[in-house]
Amino acid sequence: MLLGTGTATPHPLRAGSGAWLILERGHWLVDAGPGTLLRGAQAGVDLERIEGVILTHRHPDHAADLLPLLFALRARRRTAPLQLLGGPGTAQWLAEVQRAWTPWLSLRDAPVLVEELGATPWRRGDLSVLARPAVHPGGALHLRVAAEGRAIAWSGDTGPSPHLAEVAAKADLFLCECACIEQRECPKHLAPATVRAVLDEAQPQLTWLTHLYPEVDGPEALRAMGPHRVALATDLARWG
Ligand SMILES: [Zn+2]
Ligand SMILES: [Zn+2]
Repeated sequence: MLLGTGTATPHPLRAGSGAWLILERGHWLVDAGPGTLLRGAQAGVDLERIEGVILTHRHPDHAADLLPLLFALRARRRTAPLQLLGGPGTAQWLAEVQRAWTPWLSLRDAPVLVEELGATPWRRGDLSVLARPAVHPGGALHLRVAAEGRAIAWSGDTGPSPHLAEVAAKADLFLCECACIEQRECPKHLAPATVRAVLDEAQPQLTWLTHLYPEVDGPEALRAMGPHRVALATDLARWG
């Protein structure tokens, strides 16, 4: 379920980036942009079931709600470890954030287990998380999360990237950022024509365009996608 499909600019209908992944074994928050916890509450997600958080990168529009999440879990006296997966620098960043907010972002009765994703997929049970570097600051990653026989790919924030089609190849759902209208003015994000080229190569089953700035948020972006199954993502949309 999508909890946020927006950008760094506040929008009444689009919270910061985030999705809630419901697996039999536990639930995961993929990106924690501002407003995603509120969207989760609106959707009735059960924070007790959260097993971990995966961050595509540490820009505030993707990571800010990690702070109130940790505070909420601390207040609820969570006893199970919380897993945090992210790109290079995630462990030091979390340590600095927790130090700055001492003691409110440390769980009293459980650790936050941080792992930085590298070239090898991270696995737990049948859950696997493949990460590849994106063309974007903040330790940014593309992600492919596979479990229970299905795979969801995330572009994260990225400029044109040699790894994106690999991560999205034949994915059941591809969440792809589409932040700009024209690629040449936008080296750290994607424009519709670039997304279309990735889809031609990767052939995902279904694509939702997300991280939509107002100037690209409309049917014009979809017209650029040709024969591919593509929709504009919306907050609280459910898949699967
Ligand atoms: Zn962003
Ligand atoms: Zn970003």
